[in-house]
Amino acid sequence: MTLRLYNTMTRQVEPFTTLDPGRVSLYTCGPTVYNYAHIGNFRTFLFEDVLRRWLEASGYEVFHVMNLTDVDDKTIKGALATGAQLRDHVQPFIDAFHEDRRYLRLLDAHAYPRATDFIAPMIALVEDLLGKGIAYRGDDGSVYFAIGRFPAYGRLSRLDTRELKAGAGGRVSTDEYAKEDARDFVLWKAAREDDERVGAAWDAPFGRGRPGWHLECSAMALDLVGTRYGRDVLDIHAGGVDLIFPHHEDEIAQSCAHTGEPDFARVWMHGEFLTMAGTKMSKRFGNILTARDLREEHVEASAVRMLFATTHYRQKLDFTDEALASAREGTRRLGEFDARMSQATEATTGAFDPLALVLDDEFTAAMDDDLNTSQALAALFEAARAGNRALDAGDGPTAAFRSAWTRATTVLQVLPNSGRFAVAVEAAGESTWTEQSPDDPTAQFAWANWWAAQRLAARQARDFAESDRIRSLLDRHGWEVRDNRDGTAMVQRK
Ligand SMILES: [Zn+2]
Repeated sequence: MTLRLYNTMTRQVEPFTTLDPGRVSLYTCGPTVYNYAHIGNFRTFLFEDVLRRWLEASGYEVFHVMNLTDVDDKTIKGALATGAQLRDHVQPFIDAFHEDRRYLRLLDAHAYPRATDFIAPMIALVEDLLGKGIAYRGDDGSVYFAIGRFPAYGRLSRLDTRELKAGAGGRVSTDEYAKEDARDFVLWKAAREDDERVGAAWDAPFGRGRPGWHLECSAMALDLVGTRYGRDVLDIHAGGVDLIFPHHEDEIAQSCAHTGEPDFARVWMHGEFLTMAGTKMSKRFGNILTARDLREEHVEASAVRMLFATTHYRQKLDFTDEALASAREGTRRLGEFDARMSQATEATTGAFDPLALVLDDEFTAAMDDDLNTSQALAALFEAARAGNRALDAGDGPTAAFRSAWTRATTVLQVLPNSGRFAVAVEAAGESTWTEQSPDDPTAQFAWANWWAAQRLAARQARDFAESDRIRSLLDRHGWEVRDNRDGTAMVQRK
């Protein structure tokens, strides 16, 4: 069996093929950095991370680009309110996004282009569309895309013309009068005084202004993927379901009108919403809305990842305290087996041999089936159950089993931090936590992990007094810190 993925464009699960053998270009729409990212955004980013990890585990070379939208109405409004320049205003939110995603163990994309660094290719794209007569300058000085001159419009969202009109014209905005057709969308917004004040306006041959959101993704994807692979078409474009219309529909229109290719991406993938409707917020977890809240509540990344993996990415998922607690219990069970197996003496044959085959087959079949992570998790739990029985009977894990186990747990990232400290510490970013003592073992791991990251940063900055202070703080709480060639390892004293 080979990998099959659901393609929103065809509404079908299809065998996955690439433009070039063995390599995949993956573009995922990133956050608008006007605030801390909601965990709903991170559900999408985590689904994309599992996709990326599975592609890599399957042997593909993946080139992953995620954009950062740093210029739009919301970031400009925020900058105006604080009196800062746009780029300065959004920087803390960009830093926070990276901290959050490292905490949730999201692999680094190969590029995180900021829209304001890619104004030149955006201007070139608009010029090309103007030259082709598919874009026009409106009475208000903005440039619009003429949907009527792009017959393929609407293929992804499958909205007919009537619906599109109703959607776009539901409330009449000021630009309705500047457009030739109510459905047309803006490519380039003429500069207003507010834009100028925060440094969000650029000169262009068709008038000073700033890019529209949809234009940003088209220009950055074409520029980065084009440079890397010499292609005008992406292998996979992914995002949340709320981006299908109008964002991705408009990306397709601009990009295909520019390149002349029939498609902008061969596969379109969309993650469903995370709902919090059924949540009775308990005192323990409080009112968690952002990834930052989870971090500050000492919720382990593995528990969040386990919770999200229990539901298929194309199904709605309700985030509840109960679901999170049970996910945490699940990670603890897997973690216990992992620790037990790591300490056991390796065997060359025995009960673990067939277990390795079953785990590999079932995990692979599940993931190849449009990333069926709940099935894949079931295979992991079954392997842990059977593995515990084999250890009880005196069998030792074989190299094949350890490798199947590592492959599966590396893709899903559902093992708690304990026992994997050196890795976790390296992956963690800086933190701004204040000294406090956590109350349960899982929280302790997260807490110690963050202090270890602080200490690493202090060492890198050659602040050895701070590094020693953190070492003794950790020591007081039962953590022995060992520095070695591969990084920092921590051992919890019994
Ligand atoms: Zn986008």
